[in-house]
Amino acid sequence: MAVDLELDEVAAGVFELRLPIPFEDGLVNVYLFTDGDEADLLDCGMNADDSLAAIHAAIAHVGARRLRTLVITHIHPDHYGAAGALAGGPGLADLYMHRLEVPLVHPRYVELEHLVEQVRAYLLVNGVPDDEAEVLSNSQRALSEVVKPADPAVQLDGAERVVLGRRTLRVEWTPGHSPGHICLFDEGEGLLFAGDHVLPDLSPNIGLHPQSTPDPLHDYLAGLRRMAALEPKLVLPAHGRPFADAKARVDTLTAHHARRFEQIVEIVAGGGEWSAWQVALELWGPRDHLYEKRLALQEGLAHLQALAVDGRVAKSVRPGSVRWRSA
Ligand SMILES: [Zn+2]
Ligand SMILES: [Zn+2]
Repeated sequence: MAVDLELDEVAAGVFELRLPIPFEDGLVNVYLFTDGDEADLLDCGMNADDSLAAIHAAIAHVGARRLRTLVITHIHPDHYGAAGALAGGPGLADLYMHRLEVPLVHPRYVELEHLVEQVRAYLLVNGVPDDEAEVLSNSQRALSEVVKPADPAVQLDGAERVVLGRRTLRVEWTPGHSPGHICLFDEGEGLLFAGDHVLPDLSPNIGLHPQSTPDPLHDYLAGLRRMAALEPKLVLPAHGRPFADAKARVDTLTAHHARRFEQIVEIVAGGGEWSAWQVALELWGPRDHLYEKRLALQEGLAHLQALAVDGRVAKSVRPGSVRWRSA
């Protein structure tokens, strides 16, 4: 297969490879680290022929013969999808991932029935109408086709030093976008491989849902502060171009969430009890695209939960319903 390689050396022995994302017009950046005959990879794109062909072509292009280690930042399909094609089996690379991502894989990509049912119940208690809940809870199914899971050889906690190529990087656990999301930091050169945690153009989706941590937005904001405090010289994100001013980007993202907090406090101050679905509709209006509707609900819930933890809204639960009101 002829492959147009989108490959750049972003630091000595570190290559950024841009891979297509099937069903979306975006790209995901994965990073190849070289060490003579061997190469290591951070994230791996989806399990699709053109994407895998580009990875193999890139490995050959940098003069390596074998993929040694695959580290993934989190298990979303554009980062983890091809894991099973590259790692985990005989003759394949060793897979490293955070241990909080490991239990998410099977219910999300292998045996979906339980999670689909869990998501449906979660949508219903949060005020999503029956028919929409049915469709939305099934929207995950398509993704399982572009993911080929692999068993990890190493489960990370955070704060480990891992060797990629000829570099040693520190694992930075940054939960929020996903429970076991990690960034990698090269202290010597100040390079922060940020995954989806800090993106230059988008605010990453932070959602409260059955597989999230219980207060993902506080987790996320704390992680942003920790990454800014590292004062990286260059941030290498999974989507978009590398950028230098991490602090300015973190300030922008933090301000974005602060504004959203204010909007939501104002909405529920309108009186009465609100479902998260009603709050999401008020915030973003009706969305046409199913996936966007679910993301909007999850994002609204993450804000509501953080506000409840801070005592700025009140959360009440009964069997079959979760509701929010002014504190
Ligand atoms: Zn992601
Ligand atoms: Zn991503």
